[in-house]
Amino acid sequence: MSESDSQERIAVVLPDGSELEVDAGATVEDCAYEIGPGLGSDTVAGKLDGELVAKEEPVYDGAELEIVTDGSEEYLRVMRHSASHCLAQAVERLYDDEEVKLAIGPPTDEGFYYDFDNLEIDEEDLAELEREIEEIVAADYEIEREDVSIEEAEQRLADEPYKLELLEEFADENDRVSFYKQGEWEDLCAGPHLDSTGEIGVVKLLEIAGAYWRGDEENEMQTRIYGTAFEDESDLEEFIERKEEAEKRDHRRIGSEMNLFSIQDVTGPGLPLYHPAGKTVLKELEDFVEDLNQDAGYDYVETPHVFKTDLWHRSGHYENYADDMFIFDVGDDEFGLKPMNCPGHAAIFQDQSWSYRDLPIRYAENGKVYRKEQRGELSGLSRVWAFTIDDGHLFIRPDQIRGEVEEIMDMITEVLETFDLEYEMALATRPEKSVGSDEIWDRAENQLEEVLEGRAHEYEIEEGDGAFYGPKIDFAFEDAIGRSWDGPTVQLDFNMPERFDLDYVGEDNEQHQPVMIHRALYGSYERFFMMLIEHFEGRFPLWLAPEQVRVLPISDDNLGYAHRVANEFEEFRVEVDQRDSTLERKIRAAHDDRVPYQIIVGDDEEDDGTISVRDRFEDQEYDVEIDEFREHLEDERDEQRTEPDFLQG
Ligand SMILES: [Zn+2]
Ligand SMILES: [Zn+2]
Repeated sequence: MSESDSQERIAVVLPDGSELEVDAGATVEDCAYEIGPGLGSDTVAGKLDGELVAKEEPVYDGAELEIVTDGSEEYLRVMRHSASHCLAQAVERLYDDEEVKLAIGPPTDEGFYYDFDNLEIDEEDLAELEREIEEIVAADYEIEREDVSIEEAEQRLADEPYKLELLEEFADENDRVSFYKQGEWEDLCAGPHLDSTGEIGVVKLLEIAGAYWRGDEENEMQTRIYGTAFEDESDLEEFIERKEEAEKRDHRRIGSEMNLFSIQDVTGPGLPLYHPAGKTVLKELEDFVEDLNQDAGYDYVETPHVFKTDLWHRSGHYENYADDMFIFDVGDDEFGLKPMNCPGHAAIFQDQSWSYRDLPIRYAENGKVYRKEQRGELSGLSRVWAFTIDDGHLFIRPDQIRGEVEEIMDMITEVLETFDLEYEMALATRPEKSVGSDEIWDRAENQLEEVLEGRAHEYEIEEGDGAFYGPKIDFAFEDAIGRSWDGPTVQLDFNMPERFDLDYVGEDNEQHQPVMIHRALYGSYERFFMMLIEHFEGRFPLWLAPEQVRVLPISDDNLGYAHRVANEFEEFRVEVDQRDSTLERKIRAAHDDRVPYQIIVGDDEEDDGTISVRDRFEDQEYDVEIDEFREHLEDERDEQRTEPDFLQG
């Protein structure tokens, strides 16, 4: 018997569910050739159990295998990774490569970056680097993978301290590593990459930023160059247009222009301060969910910002989450700022005894939480250390899941529809590792599916994507420029009731464990507020606008009348522009402050007892009766922010 006859056979699972049998040791590429020679030669990379790998990677028995060819999202990732290598090659060609040290250069969702140490560079220099990259692409170097021993790798990387550090970690578990070589340049890299630099489409360098080695602020700050790559010019143009539109709407800029919030060095990173205008908007948002909560039978509770860590041991956060928590000692006790509100609410429920007739119990709190994100990751209101969740926790009987989830879904859709946000829903089901009995999971998933089936809105099922402690329904919505945002969630929890020994006395007089539901309608106020600022470009609907009406006297002579008019609108947030300035300037200022309506009053208006009204679209109407306009404002406000009546429906 020859050796190949005795070769062990293994099987991989293809995307259509069929099995492909191959020799043990076969690579991703071998599998592709086995399926068909055309696919074999088109193979760029593979996905093994969801992880992107090089086509040279051996497959293993039972793995789910996907072949990556051009035109896919994964292909774009591979191409961008190859583009990041071209960037590093270009940097080493144009700058002193004795001085400049290479760190890491991975692809990202939107492009790629490469980090360099000791690189002095300005934004103006990017164009020259781009030209060098174009030459590298035009030269169409073959991108060759080479597997070498650790010793060999150490020699090749003798001048690259950061690469050596990465190699050391890698060497613990592997005796060989891969290099990717193109032209005169090579990099320690696991891949995957395209076959040649000529296959890269268009590359664009975007910006320069500082980044800490390994994201740790204790380490030295390096220079990060961001870029992106697309298959063709038109895709790149579309990307740049979207990016410019996003920058125009950047909540950090609008937030400071409208004086909504600030984040200051002296008060600390990731700790937003809401100014009066910003708090006005937040307050409207709070009132809106408060109305919904009260209508749906929630009771408000309040918990402190800090707890003894005993609570976090009990909830399991300490074991799994301590690195992201702010923890400190007071005397002999250890305390932590709360990263979540749930344990506090569970402790409130646990403090009392309950009968099955008392359930459901619904607690709500606008609870401030603290999570210690990497400093380098903090950004505006999108990544912060302190944020507030419009949190709600329900303690219910298993037979109440359907009814309660139904009601939460009504509340969530009410919120999303109020802001005209298109949304998608997905049900995430039981993962492989989970707590709770088959019975409770099946029962819960069935009830959630019934709820989703009963709604006139499509949904997806994300098999196995639920949390280990329960299934959930996730919402995602789309903003005005087509960006998708993670939205509200409804999360069932079979774990925390266990950890907190929560129970109620059932009809059978026995102790039973309630099901806990975590839900938020906005999620975090910070993220929702940020999304609203960018979605509306700061031009909030009337009910949310921090200043709803501004009265502009044409001259100081009309100031008295301006104040009398303002008094007529006291149910709105109204200001009088008292500055000694021209009307044009006042109009400009009101426009910049994104005030929905300007009332202009001069001698003519004063004589007639009327007003002129100008809106944000610069339409102006003269000779308007005060009462008429007030009614118009009332209608507009009330239409936008409807009183909750869904429960009566
Ligand atoms: Zn690489
Ligand atoms: Zn919770």
